[in-house]
Amino acid sequence: MKLFAVTPGFEVGGSIFKPEQLSVLGNVLGDKARIELTNFQQLYVELDEDSDVEMVKEKLKSVGLQIYPVGSYVKSLKTCSFCQGAEVEGLPTALALNDAVAGQEVPAPMHIAYTGCTNACGEPLLQDIGIVKNKEVFDVYVGGNPKTLKAQVGELLIAGVPENKLNDVVQQLINLYKENGKKREKFSKFVGRITIDKVRENAQIVL
Ligand code: SF4
Repeated sequence: MKLFAVTPGFEVGGSIFKPEQLSVLGNVLGDKARIELTNFQQLYVELDEDSDVEMVKEKLKSVGLQIYPVGSYVKSLKTCSFCQGAEVEGLPTALALNDAVAGQEVPAPMHIAYTGCTNACGEPLLQDIGIVKNKEVFDVYVGGNPKTLKAQVGELLIAGVPENKLNDVVQQLINLYKENGKKREKFSKFVGRITIDKVRENAQIVL
């Protein structure tokens, strides 16, 4: 089977599909496709092996849908709905971060959440990396895990990251995980294994 993820991206209001996008999605995928709604603001699409998947992806992109790989990759950002407006909540910052990091191959699926204020509506403390805009700077949390009976809340890694350093800090975390994580080791376990102090030390290099 051929598998990929589809999202409408995010904007003020959240992740919003337009009717035309859903119409094209249904028409292009056809009756045999399997479409699963994930809890990470993505649709997983499964097509038959003989499908022309590249043609399908191009048609979906032509109506503004975004395509991401499924599996051990950095997922597209999970966000809040930016309820107080794009600029106040840092929507351009979140879009730039998503462009910079989503789709990179890592040891296990990696989830990053971004929220525009400390109300943290996008559940950043339950993700591998959680970013919370806190007035003009960003607080970065790591090691959250929403799954299993050992679910855990992330810990504050660095407070007060300036906007122009946010992508570098997140990329540094991803690089550390890429280089030192064991195959299929979840990021939260990785942080526990190498210790949050070591992760912090490494991330602070770029500040
Ligand atoms: S985290 Fe803040 S900006 Fe984002 S939806 Fe919640 S209250 Fe609004």
